[in-house]
Amino acid sequence: MERNKTIMQFFEWHLEPDGTHWSRLKELAPQLKEKGITSVWIPPVTKASTPDNNGYAIYDLYDLGEFDQKGSVRTKFGTKQELLDAIDACHNVGIKVYVDVVMNHKAGADETEVIEVIEVDPEDRTKELSEPFEIEAWTKFTFPGRGEKYSSFQWDHTHFNGTDYDARTEKTGIFKIVGEHKDWSKHVDDEFGNYDYLMLADIDYEHPEVKQEVIEWGKWLADTLNCDGYRMDAIKHINHQFIKEFVVEMLNHRGDDFYFVGEVWKTDLHACQKYLDHIDYHIDLFDVPLHYKLHQASQEGSGFDLSTIFEDTLVNTHPQNAVTFVDNHDTQPQESLESWVQEWFKPSAYALILLRRDGNPCLFYGDYYGINGPEPEDGKQEFLDRLLLARYNKAYGEQHDYFDHPNTIGWVRLGVEGVEKSGCAVVISNGDDGEKRMYVGEDKAGETWVDLMDSRDEQILIEENGYATFPVNGGSVSVWACDSQE
Ligand code: CA
Repeated sequence: MERNKTIMQFFEWHLEPDGTHWSRLKELAPQLKEKGITSVWIPPVTKASTPDNNGYAIYDLYDLGEFDQKGSVRTKFGTKQELLDAIDACHNVGIKVYVDVVMNHKAGADETEVIEVIEVDPEDRTKELSEPFEIEAWTKFTFPGRGEKYSSFQWDHTHFNGTDYDARTEKTGIFKIVGEHKDWSKHVDDEFGNYDYLMLADIDYEHPEVKQEVIEWGKWLADTLNCDGYRMDAIKHINHQFIKEFVVEMLNHRGDDFYFVGEVWKTDLHACQKYLDHIDYHIDLFDVPLHYKLHQASQEGSGFDLSTIFEDTLVNTHPQNAVTFVDNHDTQPQESLESWVQEWFKPSAYALILLRRDGNPCLFYGDYYGINGPEPEDGKQEFLDRLLLARYNKAYGEQHDYFDHPNTIGWVRLGVEGVEKSGCAVVISNGDDGEKRMYVGEDKAGETWVDLMDSRDEQILIEENGYATFPVNGGSVSVWACDSQE
């Protein structure tokens, strides 16, 4: 029987910029597989504007750490060859690789151009603050270090619709580029009036040459790396009609198994659902609403009603399309979307994504191995390994919820025939010590169950009628299951 799948986000924001990350992945791939990781989402593989950049300030789509550009041949994470070797190592142990693709903007242009722009109100980008005027903009990309290898496409201001810096006056602002058919896309998020513009030189996906070039690149990248899917960055800032076209072209080119997960950073469930409608459910989305519920629960302690934890979340309404996660490289301390789930609640939060029937859970590298940066934290491998093992061996079959108390919730998985001694009972408390009487199945009668988290040391006997009372310590999670070695 097929075992549960688990994605791992294989990076955090503050990895050392020493070019060893692809080698690290190659080395760790067999261990990750043993822990039950079935796919990894790796950071942008494309050359950024500086060698220590995480890749979101993307310079050249076709430089995967191969050309001497922007201060180095390698990217922050290594060379193209090291990347290819890491992907091979993952494939050799049966781990799929999803590549982070950054298509909203470009950075680190090779030359400036004098262009005409209109300044808009940052709070309402549909509101023009000026008449057209000239600025000197960093919008010309000629890639002298690569030349025309792989693509002869050169970018200039006609391929962008906005920028934020005038090199002549050193003035910053949001400058909409003036030109024929030039405007913000209508098919983007509507925060700030229109949220097409995020940062740097914003790519104009109304331009036919741009659309063609980026679709060609998408195919080239997947063919070159033989990767298994894409994590699509910042797509609420990109024309969703183009995203759909891109996805359909990729599926036709690489086959229906090619996987997509999109970053649509909206706390509002309705906005996520609307995006899935736009894209005809071709892609999965990160469950941002659930992340914020987990964050809120960790902030509020016993004041949070745990029985509401899945209300207004994507995994609740669209379980097939939800990638559930606890934290990521943007939510970690001091980063752009800081909303770090507090340490005491992390084991419970991970139980809520790893041991449920619904959703495609994604484990964060920073939680597993630790984070660096201004507020470093140690890795939480000890309890995460316990939960991963429970996910791999126990969390199967029918699910019954006991979300009947604001401070103590529980659920059971009844197990399946194909996985011996599977089934488990999970209890979470955000208040005092608690317990939950739950039904785990008459077929389990007489079995002795233990807490796989090792936070409680008693043994629980499953009663004749398939019930037992499962305890939990205050502010923690216990995962009860038959103590069997397979
Ligand atoms: Ca945009």
